[in-house]
Amino acid sequence: MSFLSQTLARVKPSPTIAMTGRARELAAEGRDIISLSAGEPDFDTPLHVREAAKAAIDAGHTRYTAVDGIPELKAAICDKFRRENGLDYAPSQVTVGTGGKQILYNALMATLNPGDEVIIPAPYWVSYPDMVLLAGGTPVIVEGEMQNGYRITPEQLEGAITPRTKWVIMNSPSNPTGAGYSEEHLRGLTDVLMRHPQVWVLADDIYEHLVFDDFRFATPAQVEPGLKDRTLTMNGVSKAYAMTGWRIGYGAGPETLIRAMAKLQSQSTSNPCSISQYAALAALTGPQDYIRTSREVFERRRDLVVAGLSECPGIVCPKPEGAFYVYPSIRDLIGKTSAGGTRIETDEDFASALLDETGVAVVFGAAFGLSPHFRISYATSDEILTDAVARIRRFCEGTR
Ligand code: PLP
Repeated sequence: MSFLSQTLARVKPSPTIAMTGRARELAAEGRDIISLSAGEPDFDTPLHVREAAKAAIDAGHTRYTAVDGIPELKAAICDKFRRENGLDYAPSQVTVGTGGKQILYNALMATLNPGDEVIIPAPYWVSYPDMVLLAGGTPVIVEGEMQNGYRITPEQLEGAITPRTKWVIMNSPSNPTGAGYSEEHLRGLTDVLMRHPQVWVLADDIYEHLVFDDFRFATPAQVEPGLKDRTLTMNGVSKAYAMTGWRIGYGAGPETLIRAMAKLQSQSTSNPCSISQYAALAALTGPQDYIRTSREVFERRRDLVVAGLSECPGIVCPKPEGAFYVYPSIRDLIGKTSAGGTRIETDEDFASALLDETGVAVVFGAAFGLSPHFRISYATSDEILTDAVARIRRFCEGTR
């Protein structure tokens, strides 16, 4: 009998973390590597946030806190939802965890029974299906096609709902495509959900602040208040304030769900890091200019990458509404052979050959449930991106 659990056998390690690790190993061997695989802003955490964390240490905020967050932070989260999303939540409807990831994990663990289905639009963030599997549920994948801006349609959603559907996970702007659902797009989906009262909505709004051009962010509970009683609105400070390492995420929803999630957290990690909670408090309540600055930088980089990739033979690169990813198609490269002699049958072959022959690390589309594509994270400097795009172009030009 295996020592490791059968549950664990159902899931795979995160491919994005694996790709980042492989790029790091090659760099350690002295190879000239550009890693475009990590999903984190390349900026420093804003100064006032770092100072708040130091002050928290000096003030002795170094002990256990309430399991799912200090009251001051919960109050600041309620203010944030009111201010930015027009959503009214009481502190008892708010939970704070070790990253948005733990919020999602807690929600699924606290609610799924064997056979429960969770609708996940593809391409999806790599962790969703595996979290559902870990929690004993069944992921139901619905493909958002490139010609629909990678968004699923109301008809597709309707077709995927069964009496066993417990959740639908929405993520806008999306990792890995950067695609955003406007209020109008969301309205189409929320109208469907209003007809299916057994389905709850898990809104992953972690990229809320990274939206470009005239795209306006919207979240399901705001678009359709009739869904608020069965929506968990999740967000966090990782991407909005360059705080990935601090590990603070939060969610708001009905109290029964929030209490169940806190019970689970009380028997796993207990409170998220006390010092990080004070840092997150400063991020949410302090000056917000970091958000605008980073948005401008990311928008410029998006334009740089989309323009560069659009000149690569065999690549089609849609222009995303937000986040810091692009998700180009390589359909026209399938069946070709790279200059280094690799036959490209899949997007995984493409990503491996690209890394071996040019030193550029990207994540292949199969990891996100839609092929043949690859994901680039453009959360790195303009110079590095320009170099990377030039290498990708040479790679594409070299295929036969
Ligand atoms: N949701 C999406 C779509 C993400 O891309 C990420 C991080 O990559 C997360 C949630 C989790 O972020 P964190 O746990 O750092 O808050």
